[in-house]
Amino acid sequence: MTGSRNSAEDRFAARLLVWYRRHGRKHLPWQRARTAYRVWVSEIMLQQTRVAGVIPYYTRFMRRFPGIPALADAPLDEVLHLWSGLGYYARARNLHKAAQVIRDDHDGAFPAEFEAVAALPGIGRSTAGAILALACHQRHAILDGNVKRVLARFHAVAGWPGEKSVEKKLWRLAERHTPDRNVAAYTQAIMDLGATLCTRARPRCAECPLATDCRAHALGREQDFPAPRPRKVLPVRRTRMLLITHDGKVLLEKRPPAGIWGGLWGFPEMPVNETAVDWCRRRLHLRPRVHHTWPVIRHSFTHFHLEVEPIQLEVSAANGIGDNGGRIWYDLRASRRLGLAVPVANLLKKLRSGLGEKAMVHMVKCILLGEELEGLERPPWPGELGRRIYEQVSKQAWQRWLQHQTMLINEYRLSAIEPKARKFLEAEMEKFLFGGGSAKPIEYQPEK
Ligand code: SF4
Repeated sequence: MTGSRNSAEDRFAARLLVWYRRHGRKHLPWQRARTAYRVWVSEIMLQQTRVAGVIPYYTRFMRRFPGIPALADAPLDEVLHLWSGLGYYARARNLHKAAQVIRDDHDGAFPAEFEAVAALPGIGRSTAGAILALACHQRHAILDGNVKRVLARFHAVAGWPGEKSVEKKLWRLAERHTPDRNVAAYTQAIMDLGATLCTRARPRCAECPLATDCRAHALGREQDFPAPRPRKVLPVRRTRMLLITHDGKVLLEKRPPAGIWGGLWGFPEMPVNETAVDWCRRRLHLRPRVHHTWPVIRHSFTHFHLEVEPIQLEVSAANGIGDNGGRIWYDLRASRRLGLAVPVANLLKKLRSGLGEKAMVHMVKCILLGEELEGLERPPWPGELGRRIYEQVSKQAWQRWLQHQTMLINEYRLSAIEPKARKFLEAEMEKFLFGGGSAKPIEYQPEK
């Protein structure tokens, strides 16, 4: 559909095209030897990642999968492996699935009809339009994040583009502005303008070819468009990842195909309300000899934050757990090509480099006692001090401090609810556990 265009809309496209000829990006890897396949892969990678971040992934991906047959016939693990670090792994799974659909239902040739492209897994209206416009010069509008921002500002469209009514309005505008000719250049131009000039944080309106007609600019309210997603406090979920090591290997499990990190390999996970050793015995029939809790790591998703408590456990025997479809003993000295989520890859790196070992030693060291003792399972105290104790002090040292505290209370006849006495105890605890003493002078000295 071309919609009813007027001279202002033609002017929009014409100015963009003039600007693109001088300033647009024309040497990106997917712009060379342009095919629908190459554009498709780039568009999917670019959905949540910037150009600079995508280029090395794209280059590696193309080297391994130069065409649809190579991608369709590859094991999913290998696709996920090359995707590891780009995030949003459903994109990689869909890419793989769509390549198989093209192999099986389209004789291996990327379809040239909009409906057939938009029906492929992981391809929506905007991506289908972009592929066909860029690779086949067909006239289709696009509306990715950059284009939404340019149009919302140019027309001062109120509301968050995630809302259906706002999105509909933006689609109408995108359709109206898309020219009948030079559609490939126009599509690249509007994406480039959004990525390089009309940026989210600091639009460079003085250099923008659309500035004279841009309503947000005329109002001096560039930052008000598009409206941000309504604020929502994201829930925090917590899980424990078990880094079960045996003879230089660590146990990995394949995650279910749906859900977070679907189809990737990860550590066995357990709920936080059970002890790791019991869980291992009950669920895996493994008998860990020692276990150490590493500092908690936080990973954020669109809808929630995930706090991961990594626990390292050493087992002396694999007890019948061998490599099968769903579990493997991953050799830390000779890594296999597997799809791994970023936190899992980072924990493996720590394990491999021995940093995990150091973190453990650091965590259980008690400076005053000069001993390295068993680590704490969970923070004994809320707040910053609790975090320090958790990360730097051992369980046994904490117990020793509690005995020492009882002795102080008895000896000085302290009241634990009296503020000055509490301050004194806290300063004593600093000295006892961390060795350096309190940063502040102790104002209160109990009388003997
Ligand atoms: S004038 Fe400024 S706000 Fe308007 S489209 Fe150009 S860069 Fe964006």
